[in-house]
Amino acid sequence: MTQSFKRAWLGLGGNIGDVERAMAQALQSLNAHPAVVVELVSPIYKTPPWGVEDQPWFLNCCAQIKTSLSPEEVLELCQDAERQGKRQRNVRWGPRTIDIDIVAFEDCEQIEQRLTIPHPRATERAFVMVPLAEIAPHLIIAGKSAKQWLSQLDDDGIEMDSSDRSWWS
Ligand code: AMP
Repeated sequence: MTQSFKRAWLGLGGNIGDVERAMAQALQSLNAHPAVVVELVSPIYKTPPWGVEDQPWFLNCCAQIKTSLSPEEVLELCQDAERQGKRQRNVRWGPRTIDIDIVAFEDCEQIEQRLTIPHPRATERAFVMVPLAEIAPHLIIAGKSAKQWLSQLDDDGIEMDSSDRSWWS
C-alpha cells in the first residue's frame, strides 16, 4: 500500500514557564509519531505580546512536517502536545505555556470552526510570518508567498533568540 504524504506548516508559541522546553517537547512528540516527520524547524524568535499587551513576551517558531495523517488528526496531535505542555486556556490571546496552530496544509483549504486552513489570522501576524519565511519563504498562502506577506507586516521588536535550528532535537 502506498501512503500519500503531505507537508504541513505549524506555528508554535508561548509565554509562560520554560517555553523553549515545551516547544521542543511538542516537536519531539510529533516527530515520534510513526506518521509524522518534522522536516524543518525555524530558529526561536522573541516577540512582543499581541492582543492582550500587558503580559510577558512570547517565544515563537514554525515547523514544517511531512505526514500521512489528515489535517484533523494533526490538529489532535497538536492539541495533545498542548495539553502535555499544560496550556492555560482561560484568557483568549492571554498567557499560555504553549499554543500550536496549523498555519497551512498541502492541498487543503477548508473553513470549519474546528479547523480552518490556512489559519485565518496567520498572514496578519509577524510572529508567525517571520519564522515561517525563514523555513518556507516561497510557500503560497492565500495567493501570496510567506515572504510577500511578511514584507507587508510590521515586524518591529521581533528578535531572533538564537540562529540554531537544531535547538529542539
Ligand atoms: P486558539 O485558542 O485561538 O489557539 O484557538 C484554538 C481553537 O481553534 C481550537 O479549538 C481549534 O479547533 C480551532 N482552530 C481552527 N483552525 C485552526 C488551525 N488552523 N490551527 C489550530 N487550531 C485551529
